[in-house]
Amino acid sequence: MRIGVLALQGDFSEHISMLKRLGVDAVEVRLPKHLDGLNGLIIPGGESTTIGKLAVAYDLMEPLKQFGQSHAIWGTCAGAIFLSKDASSDQPLLGLMDIKVQRNAFGRQVDSFETDLEIDELMKATGTEHAYHAVFIRAPLIESVHGNAKVLSALEDGRIVAAQEGHLLATSFHPELTSDTRFHEYFISLAS
Ligand code: GLN
Repeated sequence: MRIGVLALQGDFSEHISMLKRLGVDAVEVRLPKHLDGLNGLIIPGGESTTIGKLAVAYDLMEPLKQFGQSHAIWGTCAGAIFLSKDASSDQPLLGLMDIKVQRNAFGRQVDSFETDLEIDELMKATGTEHAYHAVFIRAPLIESVHGNAKVLSALEDGRIVAAQEGHLLATSFHPELTSDTRFHEYFISLAS
């Protein structure tokens, strides 16, 4: 199992560490050729506008779109924005996932928060029963899901924070910043 992490900007090294902990061959992706031989790709949190601009500059837009047609991709936070079809903002998007996101929907840096989520699909897949502790940092909201995309998790008030569309995954929060490996395990199962 070989998983790439888009390493243009953001907290890619935390994802790499998490994958290594799980015994996965984890590689940094900066150029189109780095996608060769990967089973899946993670797009980390950071600043989606910067990630988008750098992806354009490194000629990664088309290769990433192609890769996503047949391989698992997971976007965390800024990565979820970059994966989406619609972010109501003029910035490069991969447009792979049929979701509409709202950037910085929870406010500024000081409004970052943590909360426990009951994610049935995740608990079932990992054979566990405890809630998932999620970290939100200037997080986007998944405003709506369309087509084949489905809601994976929502806050108590119904606001969507995780979605899946086949082999594509989007989370508003940052599983790479906790010690809970379940989301990475779930993604690896999608990639294999
Ligand atoms: N606010 C950032 C954006 O809009 C995302 C923040 C994050 O990835 N933690 O791209």
